[in-house]
Amino acid sequence: MKKVLTVLGARPQFIKASVVSAEIVRRNDITEVVTHTGQHFDSNMSDIFFKELGIPVPKYQLGISGGSHGEMTGRMLIHIEHVIKVECPDIVLVYGDTNSTLAGALAACKLNVPVAHVEAGLRSFNMRMPEEINRILTDRISSWLFTPTDIATQHLNREGIPKDRIVQAGDVMYDVALFYGARVNQESGRLNELSLNPKQFILATIHRAENTDDLVRLHTIVKSLIKISKEILPVVWPVHPRTRQTLSEQGWLTILEKAVKLIDPVGYLAMVQLEKHAALIATDSGGVQKEAFFYGVPCVTLRDETEWVELVTSGWNHLVSPISVEVIFGAISRALSAKPARIEPYGNGNTAVAIVDELTR
Ligand code: UDP
Repeated sequence: MKKVLTVLGARPQFIKASVVSAEIVRRNDITEVVTHTGQHFDSNMSDIFFKELGIPVPKYQLGISGGSHGEMTGRMLIHIEHVIKVECPDIVLVYGDTNSTLAGALAACKLNVPVAHVEAGLRSFNMRMPEEINRILTDRISSWLFTPTDIATQHLNREGIPKDRIVQAGDVMYDVALFYGARVNQESGRLNELSLNPKQFILATIHRAENTDDLVRLHTIVKSLIKISKEILPVVWPVHPRTRQTLSEQGWLTILEKAVKLIDPVGYLAMVQLEKHAALIATDSGGVQKEAFFYGVPCVTLRDETEWVELVTSGWNHLVSPISVEVIFGAISRALSAKPARIEPYGNGNTAVAIVDELTR
């Protein structure tokens, strides 16, 4: 019986882990212990996902959040090392590109426990992003690198990662979207509560440091979303706690609230409902870019670069640096009528099975 210690900490990791954990539960040759670092801790950023997606209750809750990157990662390292020593897992499993990912991988590697990294090989080629540093370092010390796409595999090949460590398993988020997307319809839920008509609203999410820590960029996004809400279609924006803090500090919440439907972060099922029925999604989230594509919704990504380049080249995603209201407004107006052809870059929806097969081989 193989024992996996999974290290989770942030919202997108809970969503990715849900399908792999479910597959582990189905098997009798592998077992899982979950550690939650505490990086995301609000009930609508954490607990709701464990409940809605049936993720095993974490055996360890480290309660580590806030502070600088170095401080947060360092505190996680200390505690995860301790958990690894107590649990003696065969594998440490990490997801994505957060500080929890790096801390889990580094603690395991130093104790000679092999690391499995789900969503390996993504690159933005922007070393100013904390996520880029976390993913490159995690890939370098992982024994299983589960890549979602051809392009991610090519990045690892180019970096000289031994080929026998790379497994192109597909994208776990596609598995999750297929499962929940089929179960969520336009009846009840948030659409009704917010008086939104299907395909008659724009969904926005903004949380990346490059937008929230740069006040000029954030202000440009705020002004753009107000104009779009008044002149194109109503905008609904589930506001990430970090973004809300900056908006509040800058005194921009009041003016925003007059034009845009600002709501607290929503659970996964409500998010799927909003995504599926949006006319367009404007975001800086990695996961939301792909979910827009999964549900056939045009997307405008408000960043300078994206890791999911196949969606840009195929016309599903329009990459726009948030440098002026005119640029954002123009991009969103044009993208609303885009009709790109379907592509299949993310596997066949059986990624979780492929990952667990590999871990138990
Ligand atoms: N999400 C959610 N509720 C929200 C906003 C996002 O459930 O209010 C989900 C979204 O559907 C996606 C994931 O969170 O699956 C994306 O996480 P996030 O944008 O925080 O991180 P990223 O994908 O950029 O790493």
